[in-house]
Amino acid sequence: MVMPSSSPAELAASLDRQLASVPLQERLRIVAGLDGRAVFTTSLGIEDQVITAAIGLGRFPIDVSTLETGRLFKETVDLIAETEERFGIAIKRFYPKPDDIDAYAAKFGLNGFYESVEARHACCHVRKLVPLAEALSGARFWITGLRRSQSGNRAATPFAEYDAERDLIKVNPLADWSLDDINAYVEAESVPTNPLHKKGYPSIGCEPCTRAIKPGEPERAGRWWWENDEKRECGLHVPEAATSLVPTPA
Ligand code: SF4
Repeated sequence: MVMPSSSPAELAASLDRQLASVPLQERLRIVAGLDGRAVFTTSLGIEDQVITAAIGLGRFPIDVSTLETGRLFKETVDLIAETEERFGIAIKRFYPKPDDIDAYAAKFGLNGFYESVEARHACCHVRKLVPLAEALSGARFWITGLRRSQSGNRAATPFAEYDAERDLIKVNPLADWSLDDINAYVEAESVPTNPLHKKGYPSIGCEPCTRAIKPGEPERAGRWWWENDEKRECGLHVPEAATSLVPTPA
């Protein structure tokens, strides 16, 4: 049983144990019932569509937000409106600051992210991390669609953990779901999904940084494929220290 008066780290540990034994809908119901605002950030990927569907169908008081980076596929942007209509919810868009984009372009070039890891992290910082901080402002719980089987980097994903850097509790209600579980839910609930998934894109981010994968490749092999680091991420789900090349936006 979650103790509301616990420290954030104790609450996260307790929540982690409690969520392990219940299904998705109950996981969301428990988090929605705790004191404090819960925010789910969706990339409109298939995992996130499952969570959005569960929130919409359960009518849970959880904010659904997305980071509109300005470099998304048209299919992704179209899916935002389709999802809102399907589940009768409002998805709040968070955009990068125009001044940050200008400063990035002046320093690295608009597509400078292909040239170095530093430039790539800097782009993700201004287009994703800064808007994410805005989306999570004032939240006590951050719900994500991370799954353990997505990549080796995510293999130890807990159901709940205290994010000391952001001072909130990160909740991963699909941590133990397989891709087969995801597909079965999508089928059962007629969840709208990005048409790019059927064209070889299991993981979809910004258009210039995502390619289709080949048969047998890991799910996230099409993300920032030109980089050699097996653990490449955009910085949303790794500590800031791990992306220390990220400059402070102008
Ligand atoms: S995924 Fe690519 S385009 Fe999108 S924010 Fe990161 S570097 Fe920029």
